[in-house]
Amino acid sequence: MSDENVVVVGGGHAAAEVVVALRQKGWQGKIYMISDESQLPYQRPPLSKDFLNGVLSEERLLIKNPKLYEKADCQVMLNCRVTDIDRDQQQVVLSSGESLHYDHLILATGTRARKLPIPGADLSCVHYLRTLNDVKAIQPKLKQGARVLLIGGGYIGLEIAASARKSGCEVTLLEAQERVLARVTCETMSEFYQNLHRGHGVDIRLNTIIESIAESDTGYLATCTDGSEIEFDCAIVGIGVLPNVELALNADIECDNGIVVDEYTRSSDHKVYAIGDCSNHPSALYSKRVRLESVPNAAEQAKTVASAINGNLVPYTALPWFWSNQYDIKLQTAGLSHDYDDIVVRGDVAQGKFCIFYLKDQHIAALDAINSPADFMKAKAYITDKISVDKAELVDESKAWFS
Ligand code: FAD
Repeated sequence: MSDENVVVVGGGHAAAEVVVALRQKGWQGKIYMISDESQLPYQRPPLSKDFLNGVLSEERLLIKNPKLYEKADCQVMLNCRVTDIDRDQQQVVLSSGESLHYDHLILATGTRARKLPIPGADLSCVHYLRTLNDVKAIQPKLKQGARVLLIGGGYIGLEIAASARKSGCEVTLLEAQERVLARVTCETMSEFYQNLHRGHGVDIRLNTIIESIAESDTGYLATCTDGSEIEFDCAIVGIGVLPNVELALNADIECDNGIVVDEYTRSSDHKVYAIGDCSNHPSALYSKRVRLESVPNAAEQAKTVASAINGNLVPYTALPWFWSNQYDIKLQTAGLSHDYDDIVVRGDVAQGKFCIFYLKDQHIAALDAINSPADFMKAKAYITDKISVDKAELVDESKAWFS
């Protein structure tokens, strides 16, 4: 056993994975995992999906079996917040007032929900969905016939809409922009999701900005900037997240939309690393810096930092990917669709089985696959290996686009 220790701040996906990866890659020293939550690391994706519906039990949410932390000889400190980093002394300060020395510090602090900045947003009917405790507060309110107001038409808002409809709630969804998912996908896909939800009875209101919330005789009343009003019982806000960078910022570690790291997940202080949703890393594939909010990114960066700490600098090159489940529709996205010069839609949009290819310089830059897992798998390889594609072949649906 070495005398050196690794301190991991955070108790989410990235933290759980890094504990195991450190041991797998040969770390002999101590490991501390410090989380301000009261549960061992659990999966967040089901929180807006099967767990919200009651299909999945709480035990099934755990990312790792509790015994694994013992086996990895990791000291897990729950309900404990890191309040400060003293880089000169190589110490973190805990909410208890104690300090803990580190040789290597991994920041896996994730993100927090962006708050709704309007009058009435502090009423007890307004919820956010980021943690298990958030869901426990929401679940009893999603009763048959309850009037649920969702604010924000991103993935989380749409997934909650599908779950709330399954629970028999009346659902209204407000989206400030002219289409849902505008930040992450193209118009065809936005339209597909709008039709999907409207077909399931969700009242989607586009270009609609909520202005205030107040109590009413029958529950609560939301007023929008266009003068429209909506009566509701429970509101859930999904208007994006903010990276938890304050610890790093206060310690003069470089931050810019996340904690800035190099391809080995090292911050501007090479004894301090940042992984998962809170980190902003260089993507060689897309020649730009990105901050990703996805489980695969957290898991892969955990391996990169574990290698680096064990003295093996391996650059992070994993392809970004993501999924979302709503009703019987499974979306799988490979790559980033922020920069493309052409789009090809293949398959049957009306039947809910199709792909959207985002093309750039005769390569696939990204793919959105709806109920098409084989295309998703193949596209991952095409994007990673930059394999050229012929648009005419993609358009010709009588043939498979890959050999
Ligand atoms: P987090 O999981 O946010 O964990 C950060 C942890 O650090 C938290 O426990 C936090 O409390 C703790 N922490 C922060 N600051 C401190 C401190 N100072 N001291 C101690 N502890 C601290 N991704 C997908 O790929 N697919 C999906 O379908 C999907 N669905 C999602 C649905 C929901 C409802 C949510 C909320 C997220 C979803 N995501 C999905 C995103 C995914 O969950 C995140 O990308 C992932 O959780 C990131 O892991 P992380 O460890 O970086 O951060």
